[in-house]
Amino acid sequence: MSIVYGPVPSWRLDRSLGIDLLPGRGKTCCFDCIYCQLGITTRPEAERSEFVALSALTKELRAVKGVAADYVTFSGTGEPTLALNLGRAIDMARRELGLPVAVLTNSALMSREDVRQELSKADVVVAKLDAPDERLFRLINRPVVDLSLKDIVDGIRRFRSGWSGRLALQMMFVSGNRGAARDMARMARELAPDEVQVNTPRRRCPVAPLPKEELDAIREEFDGIETVVTAYDRVPPAIEPLDVAETRRRRPESSRR
Ligand code: SF4
Repeated sequence: MSIVYGPVPSWRLDRSLGIDLLPGRGKTCCFDCIYCQLGITTRPEAERSEFVALSALTKELRAVKGVAADYVTFSGTGEPTLALNLGRAIDMARRELGLPVAVLTNSALMSREDVRQELSKADVVVAKLDAPDERLFRLINRPVVDLSLKDIVDGIRRFRSGWSGRLALQMMFVSGNRGAARDMARMARELAPDEVQVNTPRRRCPVAPLPKEELDAIREEFDGIETVVTAYDRVPPAIEPLDVAETRRRRPESSRR
């Protein structure tokens, strides 16, 4: 299989069966985040296109029918909203597997109407937001194309106001944006997500994670938001992926459990 991988243990989505709509070698993304577990962005991209045929996805989904999973999750080796067939793939995954669908997005293309419309087909959208201003956005997420944080935040706001599914904001904290937690909490309150995930890089990457005590302190800044979880709150379930090599390519093993 080259599109479907996992299931992987997720502290946010329990047993998560992954779908990678950008499954070539290397990483296809419009960011090059300093903490990315996938290495550098080898295929910088901001234009949407079809990277895999839906007929190939159908075949792989049928091969994993009945697998024990809690969610089918669009993620993988890059930014899933770059896939022009994301909306149709979401419909297909739900139809074939009967599981709730989650999409992990870096939020970069949420300023686009077509992307918001396709994301609205999911049950859960986890949207990345790591910075409260353009300077930190460039420092942490290192966009590889011309993108503005203001447009991204506006896209998330529009998505929230027109969609009643579960929206989680994922905020990755490292030493560079640790001091911006209060401003990020203010942004989060304005965007009214159902949940904020206070994260820190716990898989192998060039950036050190913040310790539990620091994430607990950051969480305190988010008062007024109903659900705030940190990366240290939940122990992901122990599960074995169907194809270890294909799964490790998307999810390198954690060196910091
Ligand atoms: S958005 Fe995700 S895939 Fe893209 S560089 Fe950042 S962490 Fe990596």
